[in-house]
Amino acid sequence: MNNEALRCLLCKKPKCSLQGCPVHTPIPECMLLYRQGKLDEAGELLIRNNPLTAVTSQVCDWKIFCYGHCVLNVKQIPVRWYEIEQEISRDYLFKYRLERRTEELSGKKVALVGAGPVGLAAAFWLYEAGADVTLFDANERMGGVLRYGIPAFRLDKKYVDAFERMFADAGITFRGGVEVGKELTLDQLSAVYDAVLIGAGAEKPATLRIPGEEKAVQALPFLKDPSAFELGKKVIVIGGGNVAMDACRTARRLGAETWVYYRKTFENMPANPLEVEEAKEDGVQFKVFQAPVEVKEGGVVFRDCENVVPEDGGRVITRIIEGTDHFVECDTLITAISETPDFGLFQGSAAVLGEDGWPILDESQRVRGYPNVWVAGDFCLGPKSVVEAVASARIAVDKMKEGL
Ligand SMILES: Cc1cc2nc3c(=O)[nH]c(=O)nc-3n(C[C@H](O)[C@H](O)[C@H](O)COP(=O)(O)OP(=O)(O)OC[C@H]3O[C@@H](n4cnc5c(N)ncnc54)[C@H](O)[C@@H]3O)c2cc1C
Repeated sequence: MNNEALRCLLCKKPKCSLQGCPVHTPIPECMLLYRQGKLDEAGELLIRNNPLTAVTSQVCDWKIFCYGHCVLNVKQIPVRWYEIEQEISRDYLFKYRLERRTEELSGKKVALVGAGPVGLAAAFWLYEAGADVTLFDANERMGGVLRYGIPAFRLDKKYVDAFERMFADAGITFRGGVEVGKELTLDQLSAVYDAVLIGAGAEKPATLRIPGEEKAVQALPFLKDPSAFELGKKVIVIGGGNVAMDACRTARRLGAETWVYYRKTFENMPANPLEVEEAKEDGVQFKVFQAPVEVKEGGVVFRDCENVVPEDGGRVITRIIEGTDHFVECDTLITAISETPDFGLFQGSAAVLGEDGWPILDESQRVRGYPNVWVAGDFCLGPKSVVEAVASARIAVDKMKEGL
């Protein structure tokens, strides 16, 4: 037994679960079952609450979720619940069989667009509520970012394969290689299915808007199939988020001398600080206060930046220092600035979009213009995290049930 479980105070109002965890994992209940050696019971509680428990316990930024909200944080070291969750969930996932637990949605046909965390979690819950579920994905296999983004050295793909097997055993239909909006329209899905849930992620890369940018490689296609790229000796990755960290660590593992260039300071980096540390341990080198201004053959022109404290004492701003241009050689430039959802699948559909191009939703995450189309995950939140995608899928599925 992991002795961490004995340190848990089994709080009556657990902040770790109620405030810290987006899916409100029943931590004290599971901790108690774990102490009693009832691992399968704990596993069932976890997976039915969050079908991706085996994954989120490995990839969550626990410092901002459960661990960061542990009541022991005040005077002692918080409990590492995620270690216990991993121990329980990683084995239990392979034992779990989907069951029709209720007849609530019996006879209802539901289409899920996207087989990432949203699609996987929703398929799990909807099947168990009796629905006839079909998953569509533009990729050939299930998993979304779990399969095609997060590198295998951080997440073993067997935890994604397990869902393919579980769903196939249950008779859930998966239609891979189908891009909704092209091969099939949203109108067609909405007409044929009782409900449609779109969890199409946020895969459209933001651009640097600098000359020569087309010479750069985008991080997501690179992470999807790193072997398809000839990196050369030296790689520069631009960005400071988790995608940038995965890209630089992958390039490093392919043998390239790898640098991350970022326009602000380390403290400003949106990446999980642990990931930054691990990238450094992998041998990735960092250069901060560097803004790219032009991509040229064989390298990038950067301009120095600095932090300025406004005279009124307001928020520190980072500004570019004119006249500091310098050329840095590299064989491959990878950009990992940010991603946004691709709303192309709404083109020609009845969906009502706002001025910013985002779909207008009601409070149940339903798309205005359709009575039976809901959205969840990165597709409506922008790039977030696996556990937040699952939490958002939970809201959409519950609301969908009320609407069916
Ligand atoms: C490289 C990388 C590393 C990350 N690391 C972490 C991490 O360590 N921890 C963490 O918590 N989060 C991490 N995240 C974020 C996390 O993976 C996402 O928040 C999460 O995957 C969102 O789930 P989703 O189901 O909304 O979308 P996705 O996982 O993006 O899945 C969307 C799916 O929809 C499909 N799709 C898109 N358009 C269509 C269409 N028109 N028709 C059919 N299918 C379509 C796509 O092919 C994809 O399979 C990372 C993200 C990236 C990119």
